[in-house]
Amino acid sequence: MDEVILVNRMESVVREALEEIIAKGEIEVCTCERCRLDVLALALNSLSPKYVVTEIGNAVTNVDLDSFQGKANVTMAVYKAIGVVSGRPRHQ
Ligand SMILES: [Zn+2]
Repeated sequence: MDEVILVNRMESVVREALEEIIAKGEIEVCTCERCRLDVLALALNSLSPKYVVTEIGNAVTNVDLDSFQGKANVTMAVYKAIGVVSGRPRHQ
């Protein structure tokens, strides 16, 4: 049997959503690693996790964000998190 691990698929979904928002360029987002991770943490804490057990080889699955049912919720959570982090970045 291949080794299996526990993965929160919501994490990839939120990462995708953040990348999409940054790519759109509609709002100002600091794209440094610190702010990205702060946004991810805030957004993920406000969303329900989606844990799945997967084989290690399949762990890096690309999430099809557009077909993801809760996409609107996720996008909203990410926008909210960006608002918080932009208003109070934890660096100069
Ligand atoms: Zn930053």
